[in-house]
Amino acid sequence: MVSRVIPVAPFDLVIFGGTGDLARRKILPGLFARFSSGQMPEEARIIGAARSDLDDAGYRKMIGGALKEFTPEACKDAELVTAFLNRLHYVKVDATGTEGWDKLKSLVRPDAINAFYFSVAPSLFGALAERLHLNEIANAHARIVVEKPFGRDLESARALNATLAEHFAEHQIYRIDHYLGKETVQNLMAVRFANVLFEPLWNAQYIDHVQITVAETVGVGGRGAYYDKSGAMRDMVQNHLMQLLCLIAMEPPSQFESDSVRDEKLKVIRALQPVSDEEIVRGQYQPSGNQAGYVEESGNPDSLTESFIALKVHVSNWRWADTPFYLRTGKMLKARASEIAVVFKETPHAIFGQKSADHPNILRIRLQPNEGMTLGVTIKEPGPGGMRLMDVPLDMAFADTLKGEEDVPDAYERLIMDVIRGDQTLFMRGDEVEAAWKWTDPIIEGWTKRADRPKPYDIGSTGPEDAAVLMYREGRRWRDIQP
Ligand code: NAD
Repeated sequence: MVSRVIPVAPFDLVIFGGTGDLARRKILPGLFARFSSGQMPEEARIIGAARSDLDDAGYRKMIGGALKEFTPEACKDAELVTAFLNRLHYVKVDATGTEGWDKLKSLVRPDAINAFYFSVAPSLFGALAERLHLNEIANAHARIVVEKPFGRDLESARALNATLAEHFAEHQIYRIDHYLGKETVQNLMAVRFANVLFEPLWNAQYIDHVQITVAETVGVGGRGAYYDKSGAMRDMVQNHLMQLLCLIAMEPPSQFESDSVRDEKLKVIRALQPVSDEEIVRGQYQPSGNQAGYVEESGNPDSLTESFIALKVHVSNWRWADTPFYLRTGKMLKARASEIAVVFKETPHAIFGQKSADHPNILRIRLQPNEGMTLGVTIKEPGPGGMRLMDVPLDMAFADTLKGEEDVPDAYERLIMDVIRGDQTLFMRGDEVEAAWKWTDPIIEGWTKRADRPKPYDIGSTGPEDAAVLMYREGRRWRDIQP
């Protein structure tokens, strides 16, 4: 394989929360993968900054353990691991105090690209931004990366945007939504905007509906107390599913450039209609055998928080009038599978009789597992027996198509490298996040005021029965949740 990896410019990346779960599980393994591929220049440095009492050696040991635990395959080359770990430094820092800031300042080189990853609780974002600024650690081109959740409603998101804006300009703020870093999500834009085939059909005249499913098999587990204040709408729909919807629904941007793309996504969010109560189904998984239900896991016996939600969403513009988007996400479902299904309309005239009506073309975009795209095409079943129809997939599974191109970066890897390159295309802009909350807030307020109780569903199912009814009553049905 010919490597097409282009090394980025020298950088100092400071990871606040560098000892935390996200840093150990995703950020550092991701950086190691980019290092292994040769994308990291000699001079690049990674500085962990957190509350734990560690020195460089202790931090390197901790991260060495994390790499072994979370990417054992990648750790076969011990020399490579050591070379990577030698790039790591550590500073004990108090985000809300004075400890560690002088040392951090002495480590961050003003002439390198400065990036600061806020992998800490959002309540610390403001304090970190302020201290970076007051201690004059961040240079004029510095970037900050902030993790989800970005607020829990419009008011808190606005406040957070305002706090960050006191110290950093919008072009320096990278709000991460790791769904946007997935290879398939970007491929969706390539398929839509680099081919003449799809765009003429990409509208209400030819598309019957769109289904977006993000299904998990895990429960809330140890995050129960946090999750109970959030729920599936805040945790998944307002950000991840909304971003996927935007990429399907947006108009072609005039160029593939961060503000052009984000302007178009923003227009979609602003065109979302309010959702009526009948178009929402919320659920909570029930205990089963020796498996705890949501209420036990969250530790809140009276919890009204949803661990599942399905909703029908309308994008009210010319392109999408009468083509609904059905969104669905939940925990403890039958399989771990994220996919977008663009379901085309039936042929205008069925020359093969009713048989052809059962075979709509479906463009299926799989985000996990096995990223890839499949276009279902109807053909004649081979052999004798008259004109029988069958669906065959035109399959673009990356694992097969890109054989030999193993260096497909995972979402975090790609996004971190985009930060270093200064490319904000795959990051949410402040106004996008606020517009998303503006749409989300009244929906949540509606069911909160009424104290609606989520519908029970079985662990390992596809969610509450009512979610199926949401589609069924309109002559549609959800695609099965399959890995
Ligand atoms: P964590 O609790 O595992 O780690 C928190 C980190 O923050 C630790 O390194 C800790 O030392 C540091 N810290 C806490 N208080 C500090 C202070 N006063 N000064 C300096 N450092 C301090 O958290 P996490 O799971 O790694 O999550 C980090 C952020 O990422 C959160 O905003 C979370 O919502 C977000 N996030 C996490 C995940 C995940 O899978 N863990 C996924 C998406 C988003």
